Amino acid sequence: MIITYEHGDGLYVNLTNRCSNACDFCVRSYGNTLYGNLWLDREPTVEEIKESIFSRDLSAYSEIVFCGYGEPTERLGDIREICAEIRKISDITIRINTNGHSDLINGRDTAADFAGLFDIVSISLNTSDPAVYKEMCRPKFGGRAHMAIIDFALNVKNYVPRVILSVVDTTITPEDIEMCRGLAEDIGVEFRLREFI
Ligand code: SF4
Repeated sequence: MIITYEHGDGLYVNLTNRCSNACDFCVRSYGNTLYGNLWLDREPTVEEIKESIFSRDLSAYSEIVFCGYGEPTERLGDIREICAEIRKISDITIRINTNGHSDLINGRDTAADFAGLFDIVSISLNTSDPAVYKEMCRPKFGGRAHMAIIDFALNVKNYVPRVILSVVDTTITPEDIEMCRGLAEDIGVEFRLREFI
């Protein structure tokens, strides 16, 4: 079971395979990754995740990224516990890569949960068009999902130093990419065009 893996100079944490989306382009549809098989037989416990993280020399990495093969906010409470432990011993940058459904998944406004623990919240917006989002990402929350992402970005920017809205370069039109860039500007967060891997 791969709980942590290295990518670039970051340490990535794979803690769940659950996700509220079923995106057309999801890396999970392509079998093994460059880092091995990130499918989990079962979800690792908080203790197992901490053990995996703390068995590494954290000074060797530029950041810890909660990402993996699923949506990390499916385990928001556990992540908060783990981040708090990391914060006790290291000021390493902590990032979460999320689909932005945290409020819907957890059934409440979760933005404040990210305060003091995360340096960067990177949110996959994927498209500026809610109808395209619904078709491409097949969210279990249906038509509410896209607006919820925007609301989450607007709220969480009040609690963390950096919020990024990202889109994948090959999955939408150049016009849509520019719309997403404009949306990020309007919200007052960063924009990132991600390469399709
Ligand atoms: S949000 Fe991410 S993990 Fe979830 S289905 Fe889409 S690409 Fe896969």
